[in-house]
Amino acid sequence: MKLDQMKKILEKIKEYDRIIIFRHKRPDGDAVGSTLGLREILSISFPEKEVVTLNADYSDYVAFLGDEDAARPDEFYTTALGIVIDTATAERISNKNYTLCKELIKIDHHIEVEAYGDLSWVEEERSSASEMIAAFYDAFRDELKINKDAATYIYTGMVTDSGRFRFRSVSGETMRLAGMLLDLGIDTDTLYANLYMKDFDSLKFQAYVYKKMKMTENGVVYLHVDRAMQKKFDLTSETAGTAVSFMESIKNSLIWIAFIDNADGSIRARLRSRFVTINEIAERYHGGGHACASGATVYSKKEMKALIAEADAHLKHYKETNEGWL
Ligand code: AMP
Repeated sequence: MKLDQMKKILEKIKEYDRIIIFRHKRPDGDAVGSTLGLREILSISFPEKEVVTLNADYSDYVAFLGDEDAARPDEFYTTALGIVIDTATAERISNKNYTLCKELIKIDHHIEVEAYGDLSWVEEERSSASEMIAAFYDAFRDELKINKDAATYIYTGMVTDSGRFRFRSVSGETMRLAGMLLDLGIDTDTLYANLYMKDFDSLKFQAYVYKKMKMTENGVVYLHVDRAMQKKFDLTSETAGTAVSFMESIKNSLIWIAFIDNADGSIRARLRSRFVTINEIAERYHGGGHACASGATVYSKKEMKALIAEADAHLKHYKETNEGWL
């Protein structure tokens, strides 16, 4: 735990009357959960301060958690402390007005590819940014308050970013912090129903993914969710992206990739893996991310094929030089 940075962050928070919390674009449960969670903790701990989350997009998937704050004019930012959570690079910050803030803090659990901000607290081994917010509360529980709403936001981020506490990044500390949050009375029945119930059309899309996915010689499973497929199933960029999760848990396939056509003609790649790391591949294709969950962008079918071939060669080498994978 990086207590020094955490202490400096708390001191900065105390200095400011206005705090704006940001996250990455196309947010997932962790980005939304960590930012709403910190907003709630700071709002109830320092009622005299104005604490808001200002972002330019939102997520249907976790919309049940409630709204972020309405847009504010540029002047609003200039006296504020900005806190960016769960966002590896400044380019991925959802709201470009973060540059107007008087000072900026970065809190993140992604592999550090770019340092930004005046103060930074990065712990790559944390299972989620939400876990870091839980740890932040826990470290300063004498000075901070928490409630059931904050616990629910943060717990949602922890559950979703750790694959329901299954990923390698989950530690004893993750579970102790999750336990602390559960003790605050989170309604897990409703939470899991919101997260995991599926609608009819989404299951039809899932069936189609299984029908169309392909496997390379060495076990890379992939699918191109092209414009036609998106139209056929009336998919948004977010629902199209769920294809990647359908392809996990296939024996011998240690890497799986969903390619999703973007409106601007580029193709987003969502890469996932077990045992073998894939972030180096993503970095070579205009992306990055975690060892076993990365994102990238390719600009043609040719480049898409090159990425698949590279992943296949990487997996071949891994299988030849390692044992115990499955
Ligand atoms: P995604 O498949 O888009 O959910 O991305 C998986 C992980 O990789 C997430 O944790 C992202 O933060 C990260 N990631 C996605 N796209 C990029 C990118 N262009 N640059 C750096 N990291 C990324």
